[in-house]
Amino acid sequence: MTNLHPDLARVIISAEEIEARVAGLAVEIETDYADVERVILVGILKGAFIFLADLARELQIPHIVDFMAVSSYGKTATSTGAVRLVLDLREPIENEHVILVEDIVDTGHTLNYLYHTLQMRNPASIRTCALTRKDRDALNIPVDYLGFEIPDVWVVGYGLDYADKHRTLPYVAELKPEAYTK
Ligand code: 5GP
Repeated sequence: MTNLHPDLARVIISAEEIEARVAGLAVEIETDYADVERVILVGILKGAFIFLADLARELQIPHIVDFMAVSSYGKTATSTGAVRLVLDLREPIENEHVILVEDIVDTGHTLNYLYHTLQMRNPASIRTCALTRKDRDALNIPVDYLGFEIPDVWVVGYGLDYADKHRTLPYVAELKPEAYTK
């Protein structure tokens, strides 16, 4: 790709590949939830907002959108699995069909925490959807709807950032390791 930002090593998932896969995920979800009254898509801020916006607009079944946010990623949080809720849902989810929508699953601690937090609120069902999952040893959290398996590198774009940069790129790209410290 020409004109790649100097912080970026390479494009891992192109805009076209994302578009096609998001449409495919929407079809999978529509098939599985064809008989329910509605689905609640819970986007995890900030990273999932672009993915959620595209997925929700593809989805041809009744759905509503809500958001949660957790404390920002840090080395300590990764090793201990400590995740802090900083923004909760606006609406109760009791007896609702919930799909948690994540940008990326790395160690799996975030998804694990959110899954169990929502499970305690007695939804009719909970499933998980992630645009990407890193190919690494992680908690064994099932991702019911997975966009792409990616290498264990730091990625940005399509909602994913590094220090709030590169979030609105239309593709997912690998950040050069030397750009981490900038
Ligand atoms: P986990 O709890 O699965 O280790 O991490 C999940 C969160 O870490 C993601 O929601 C995301 O915010 C952040 N994260 C993990 N890997 C990456 C990455 O490669 N790029 C970006 N931008 N965020 C990441």
